[in-house]
Amino acid sequence: MAKMLIGGEQVDSESKATYEVRNPATGEVVGSVPAGTTPDVERAVESAEHALGEWADTTPEDRGRMLMNACERIKEASGEIAQLLTQEQGKTLFEANLEVHHLLHGLEFYAGLASKVRGAQVPLPQKGAYGMVLRQPIGVCAGIVPWNFPLTLMGTKLGPALAAGNTIIIKPASTTPLATLRCMEQIQKATYADGKKTLPAGAVNVVTGSGSVVGEEILRHPRIRRIAFTGSTEVGRHVMEVAGREIKRVTLELGGSDPMIVMDDANVDLAVKMADVGRFFNCGQMCLGVKRLFLHESIADTFIDGLADILRKKTLGNGMNRETRMGPLHLDYQRAEIEEQVEEARSRGAKTIVGGQRPSGDGLDKGFFYEPTLLTDVPIDARVSREEVFGPALPIYRFTDLDEAIEIANSSVYGLGASIWTRNLGHANKAIERLQAGNIWVNSLHYGYDELPFGGVKASGIGREHGPEALDSYFEQKGVVIVNV
Ligand code: NDP
Repeated sequence: MAKMLIGGEQVDSESKATYEVRNPATGEVVGSVPAGTTPDVERAVESAEHALGEWADTTPEDRGRMLMNACERIKEASGEIAQLLTQEQGKTLFEANLEVHHLLHGLEFYAGLASKVRGAQVPLPQKGAYGMVLRQPIGVCAGIVPWNFPLTLMGTKLGPALAAGNTIIIKPASTTPLATLRCMEQIQKATYADGKKTLPAGAVNVVTGSGSVVGEEILRHPRIRRIAFTGSTEVGRHVMEVAGREIKRVTLELGGSDPMIVMDDANVDLAVKMADVGRFFNCGQMCLGVKRLFLHESIADTFIDGLADILRKKTLGNGMNRETRMGPLHLDYQRAEIEEQVEEARSRGAKTIVGGQRPSGDGLDKGFFYEPTLLTDVPIDARVSREEVFGPALPIYRFTDLDEAIEIANSSVYGLGASIWTRNLGHANKAIERLQAGNIWVNSLHYGYDELPFGGVKASGIGREHGPEALDSYFEQKGVVIVNV
């Protein structure tokens, strides 16, 4: 049985209760973990507070070295970590390896940035006085992570938190704790100062268990001063309300319904390939996935035929098999939700180009599989148009006028990402300026680069992860006035 990580030790929950983690492709048990409760969060907070003095005092350069060493250790265990990720999450081994790679890239980015932080010296109107802006760690932080990208979304919180001198408690999604725990064991062993020092025990902690118990206690706990949350908009709202009572710093990375707009002058072959990856990678369970496809009337038929061809050839199956190109949905209720969304669109006149049902085939009835699905003639007020579709179904809309496409794209309550595919700079600029989203891609895959700030507007969230911007959000800024007397 896997254990939680608290105070540098692998521990059971104080309640001794455990629960099983199952493979969404087969229903088989992959492992079990402690079902954490309130006292476990308290222990983690005490450990994180205990480690804070030493870690905040460590030079930024050494913090960076520790993160680099952590990456080396994760790399050594990466084969096992990726397999655990596939088994508990359902994604293909190829996708799991890419996720480990992305995690490492993100941690290395913050390792490099740790020692590059600048404060400011500010002239003041009073004679002989000047100001300074210091950046200091906030204290004990927490990261609440969903199940779709358990490792990268843990890393986007842990990397900047540690680089800035904070300590952190991670709460993984209850269904995907195993790869996270294996990674964190490696991070806890990481060294710096020429191998003479190890990350202080308690600088990183993982408390496994449910959102309603462990998550709630993290939101409520007064000595956790910053919360980074990734998950649904509904829970995000609740996070802000509860954490707000203790005036905690909060960042929310929530749902999205990214539009992809393809103009008549686009590189259609490239756009078709990227629409496939942008919607169906990770079985469509991506916050920044392409969730609404807008095609210029003149290229629409060619585009739809090309994408449908790719989807018809996709092999569904257990992510551990080499030939599998798309795994199952992670949860049964997630599949039921997509089925309802697709049915509602069909009942209102939408046409199914491919998919739209559960696949049949060897062993596929044991997992939460759903065929990659394309829908056309979708009403603009159908559920698939208004709601986030968190799985492999893509509604397609035709347009002739870019202004009209942008207006419909902006009618969503979400505003995470958006892309335009065009060779015309005027069209690109119009989309960049007008699309309501935290991230815009021009002729490029919806992908969260570690180097750029990533986050949403409207119901997609508050604050940014990735980039130096995220590191900033893990510091308190202290204004100082110094007068020469
Ligand atoms: P949830 O919001 O249900 O869960 C996310 C995390 O929050 C999990 O660790 C969960 O724990 C925890 N949680 C649940 N309830 C509470 C609570 N009351 N207090 C504190 N923590 C709680 O989202 P899903 O896991 O279902 O993830 C899918 C959603 O997340 C999609 O809508 C997707 O768009 C969004 N998402 C957004 C991303 C972004 O970057 N913008 C990235 C990835 C996903 P437990 O697992 O135990 O329930």
